[in-house]
Amino acid sequence: MDKKDKLLITGSIAYDSIETPLASEEYILGGSASYASLSASLFCPVVMDGIVGADFKESDLARLKKHGIDTSGIKVDKTRNTMFWRGKYHENFNTRETQDIQLNVYEDYTPHLVDVAKEARFVLLGNISPMVQEAVLDSVSDPDFVILDTMDLWINTTNSQLKNLMGKVDLVIMNDSEAKLLSEESNIMLAADKIRAMGAKTLVIKLGEYGSMLFHDEGYFTTPAYPVRSLHDPTGAGDSFAGALAGYICAKSDSSFETLKHGMVLSSAAASITVESFSCRKLEEAGIEEVKRRAKFILNSCKI
Ligand code: AMP
Repeated sequence: MDKKDKLLITGSIAYDSIETPLASEEYILGGSASYASLSASLFCPVVMDGIVGADFKESDLARLKKHGIDTSGIKVDKTRNTMFWRGKYHENFNTRETQDIQLNVYEDYTPHLVDVAKEARFVLLGNISPMVQEAVLDSVSDPDFVILDTMDLWINTTNSQLKNLMGKVDLVIMNDSEAKLLSEESNIMLAADKIRAMGAKTLVIKLGEYGSMLFHDEGYFTTPAYPVRSLHDPTGAGDSFAGALAGYICAKSDSSFETLKHGMVLSSAAASITVESFSCRKLEEAGIEEVKRRAKFILNSCKI
């Protein structure tokens, strides 16, 4: 594989405290870049960009490295703490509330990419502020395909920066509630039309346990989710989905409609693994064979 056939992933690296209707855990490894990188590393070589603080554990860095992720671009600011997020799931996992978010080291993070990251052909701008995402994108020499993920906080607080960035990438991912928030439309199809008109040429809308939709110039595609019976913590499902999609595109070195469709099914499979544990644990244990097995199950479930 060519040195440049790598996937650069930026986003948050965080410690999460999470409460679900069944259990809670404090200060566990999370962040969009952590989930996305572990998921993508099942498919292709990953270079991670981000920043952590004085409290970041060496053992958590080792978890990423163990999966072959190049962490040489992760900066450490010893004067502050790692980003922190506290989330609580209500109504039997159906709604999530952000109870606390402390950006800490991400407050004024200015990315300076390592050389190997600058050369990446594929880029996933995982969920973090559009200012950080844009700075990363501007530093990559000549990317072939760029994916952008986001979240309600950024839609609410940095709307114009986000919309501006959407026009500079190849594929935008968000969930259904974020699509409705951004478009101010309650019908998901009309929301997708509006967001594509804003500049998001290719759009993926995730529907949580119901699957995801792909809006592309060559057509429309939808995949169900893998049916999960042991739901522990939905955190990171979206990031794992985005990581797998970017990872598959990088592994195939192709971003055609056909490849994206296969990627969507594999991404649903990867996301279903994440929700079966707190933090990234299940994702770390599972191999690519388990992702493929689940993807096959999803495909069979649509056959008549
Ligand atoms: P997801 O469940 O896919 O939406 O991702 C949840 C992860 O995103 C958690 O591990 C959090 O640490 C991280 N996170 C939460 N809020 C933000 C935010 N505003 N920007 C970036 N990452 C965030």
